[in-house]
Amino acid sequence: MRAMNRNLLLNTIRSQGPLSRTQLTELSGLSVGAVSQIVNDLIESRWVTEAGESDFTGGRRQVLLRLNPTAGYVVGLKLMEDRAVCAVTDLEATVLNYLERPLPTSHGPEAVAETLSHTVIHALYEADITRDKVLGVGVGLAGVINSAAGIVHYSPFFHWQNVPLAGLLADQLLLPVYLENDVNTLTITEQLFGPGHDVANFAVLTIGRGIGLGVVINHQLYRGHKGGVGEVGHITLLPDGPPCDCGKRGCLEAIASDPAILRDMRAALAEGVASTLDTGAALEDIVQAAAQGDPLARDLLARSGHYLGMGLAIVVNLFCPSLIIVSGEGVTAGAHRLDPMLESLREHTFNGLLDGVETLIKPTDDQAWARGAAGLVVGKIFESPLIQTVETA
Ligand SMILES: [Zn+2]
Repeated sequence: MRAMNRNLLLNTIRSQGPLSRTQLTELSGLSVGAVSQIVNDLIESRWVTEAGESDFTGGRRQVLLRLNPTAGYVVGLKLMEDRAVCAVTDLEATVLNYLERPLPTSHGPEAVAETLSHTVIHALYEADITRDKVLGVGVGLAGVINSAAGIVHYSPFFHWQNVPLAGLLADQLLLPVYLENDVNTLTITEQLFGPGHDVANFAVLTIGRGIGLGVVINHQLYRGHKGGVGEVGHITLLPDGPPCDCGKRGCLEAIASDPAILRDMRAALAEGVASTLDTGAALEDIVQAAAQGDPLARDLLARSGHYLGMGLAIVVNLFCPSLIIVSGEGVTAGAHRLDPMLESLREHTFNGLLDGVETLIKPTDDQAWARGAAGLVVGKIFESPLIQTVETA
């Protein structure tokens, strides 16, 4: 009970602070005595600091309490196909150090875990943070992830099935390790520190190498059975369409992802379609060519956007969020991709469901993904009484 009350107060200070003791008593519903005692404990153990005084409003000035962002530190790892990116952050997800490491080409789970472990140790060393101050390591990767069990059920990049990655890494680092689908880590971080704060129902769509989805329903990340939520990239839109990495045909990802745009570009050039592009062009070249009026470049981006909008309309029809955050590397393709996406979203959403829905475009770089994985740990710390057992020096 005491641990729960302590967690309640800490969470209230974290999410709504800075707050006075009086405000904290009102918000928590706990007694003045209980709040006073727990707050004293939290200050003594450095989880909470006093941060100035409230504005004078006729009554007595009150000392304000806020979370001490450096009461502990967390590490986030995001696994890409060929490399891992790593961020060390404080409890407000401020990045203190960031680095990248190539992953072993064999992709064997043990070898990958060893590389990740070395990466974490190096990142902490560079940030001058000792391991006893680290509250946990969050790992995000694409695929179906059983977060509670720390198991990668299925990873399309590494061709893993049922790999206990959290355990492998925890054995090496001797730290708590939390595993989650990468889009879910981003979603949790938007909920804790971003525009998803205090939004009951929102969705995060990521566009890039793959197409992913994170969903928050009634303030909770929705994971579904086995963590297999959000495979919007593998909704079939064209049954006879191009083959997908998943083995099926015509998935949204096979039509509208960044690699799909490049594949379609090469096919069009091979057919002799006139363009300033050449077969070695990257997505940024296509974006540049579109800006200069190249019709093929514009068609490619518009086609991708059109199908992304159809996928997003399915998300809105299913979950009816009040906020949609469109994120990922592919967002940098800009208006020639995103305007057709928004148009197609309006066209394909059920009547009225889009009214009042806010759509935010938020480019995500590698560091943002790593920060997202770190946010996963912050979320874990503040959701459980685990904090009771963690002592900071
Ligand atoms: Zn697929």
